[in-house]
Amino acid sequence: MATTAFPAAEGNEAPTAPRTYLNYIGGQWRPSLSGETFDNTNPARQSELIGTFQRSTAADVDAAVAAAEAALPAWCALPAPARGEIILRAALLLEQRQPELARQMTREMGKPLKETIGDVRTAIDFGKYVAGEGRRAEGETVPSALPDKMCLTVRQPLGVVGIITPWNFPMAIPAWKTLPALLAGNTVVLKPASDTPLSAVNLVEILSEAGLPAGVLNLVTGPGATLGDALVTDPRVAMISLTGSTEVGRHVAELCGRDLRRCSLELGGKNAVIVMDDADLDEAVAAVSWAGFGTTGQRCTATSRVIIHERVASAFAEKLVATAEKLRIGDGLLAETDMGPLVNAGRVQAVHAYTEIGVSEGARLLTGGRPLTDDELAGGAFYAPTVFTDATTEMRIAQEEVFGPFVTILPVRDYDEAIGAANATIYGLSCAIFTENARTAFRAMRDINAGLIYINAGTTGAEPHLPFGGTKQSGNGHRELGRKAVEEFSEIKTVFVSYPARSPRG
Ligand code: NAD
Repeated sequence: MATTAFPAAEGNEAPTAPRTYLNYIGGQWRPSLSGETFDNTNPARQSELIGTFQRSTAADVDAAVAAAEAALPAWCALPAPARGEIILRAALLLEQRQPELARQMTREMGKPLKETIGDVRTAIDFGKYVAGEGRRAEGETVPSALPDKMCLTVRQPLGVVGIITPWNFPMAIPAWKTLPALLAGNTVVLKPASDTPLSAVNLVEILSEAGLPAGVLNLVTGPGATLGDALVTDPRVAMISLTGSTEVGRHVAELCGRDLRRCSLELGGKNAVIVMDDADLDEAVAAVSWAGFGTTGQRCTATSRVIIHERVASAFAEKLVATAEKLRIGDGLLAETDMGPLVNAGRVQAVHAYTEIGVSEGARLLTGGRPLTDDELAGGAFYAPTVFTDATTEMRIAQEEVFGPFVTILPVRDYDEAIGAANATIYGLSCAIFTENARTAFRAMRDINAGLIYINAGTTGAEPHLPFGGTKQSGNGHRELGRKAVEEFSEIKTVFVSYPARSPRG
């Protein structure tokens, strides 16, 4: 990757050398008005600095929103296919630079290279997909109930959109929000998570290189509480799109609700895999291991509960423990690594607190349940893959999002009890069932209350052309990706056209 592509404040070091990164406002890389910065380190080796980023304040958000507002008229006047061309160019640049972007992402948040390559791939694939939507942006044309009249709908941009993103998919999620928002003709202020600002800088830099005009996309890094509140309450911002925890989502929705601002939320999950007694157990174990321990359990769709028929519960648990204990844990840059660190040291304590809760609630710890500090893992935020069994639905480890490599097994007597347990949380993001019986599979598709259902596959995995999102408190009813993505960032205008013939006398 060309070093000049990176907005370094000083020096011209290799792209992976630590440097100071700036905000991007009105087409210029600028330091925060506060003059303050924060350091971001590698969770696999916390002494290793990734870069220094701007600790922005409400004043920087104000400048970014002003720049986005100023850029809005020209950007929404540009035909949607021309906006799509810029997005396509950005997708091709991402593709050219995919290996280096993935390496930088592994260093900034820990997941293994094969996963960060997939994260960048999602941004590329979705960029290619959504670029084409510029030539569709379809509305409806319908007959009128009245003579000499036709009716149609067109899609309009909303205005300035504030986008707030989490750290677990550092490029995929900023891309799958920002690209459709831009395609729909909005201008954007992006506030990424403080654990992964570098991937957001890289995305913004590439979009600007692809030809995005100044002010159309603005980036402000820094603390969520201050910047988030400033962005969410700014009257010039027409919509907030947030992916994050249910707790933060509730706060943002309350603020948006005060002035009826549109707000799209993708939030937490407590995703279950149901395993029936006719399931292929080896297939189910492999799927739970990948969906439960992949990304160190830090996916919104991670499997954190296994609801299993009591007849096969011990055999399944034994196989899952054996698989978990074989996982190679270490630096995600090493080809042999199966599972990297948690995103930061604070998360190690947070996950460990759930081990203590599980033990005190009377569930049985089968493996893991401790931070890993031996030899080469010392100095990193590593936690052992953890499996509890004999849990019951009301336990906190069966109800709350742990967001770590932590799987809780709940034995049940039959299908009805399994569905009852699967639906018995505040969340409804993702759920899977393993069964060889087609009737059971179809009943589960109907009975499970979740936005994403998987049959004989784990609870993770999205495709760019299909809608993605959850029910209940996993969101507020919006869907991302696919054609829904552009709908989410636009508004329908209904047009009535009358064309009665003129009388000869006019
Ligand atoms: P988080 O809620 O702590 O932070 C998300 C973003 O919100 C960050 O950019 C943060 O700085 C910002 N933020 C924090 N306080 C804010 C405030 N008061 N106002 C506005 N913004 C604020 O979440 P996280 O730890 O970054 O990510 C993990 C969470 O995200 C998990 O709960 C996970 O399930 C969820 N998630 C959901 C999806 C989905 O599509 N449903 C996808 C990925 C992650």
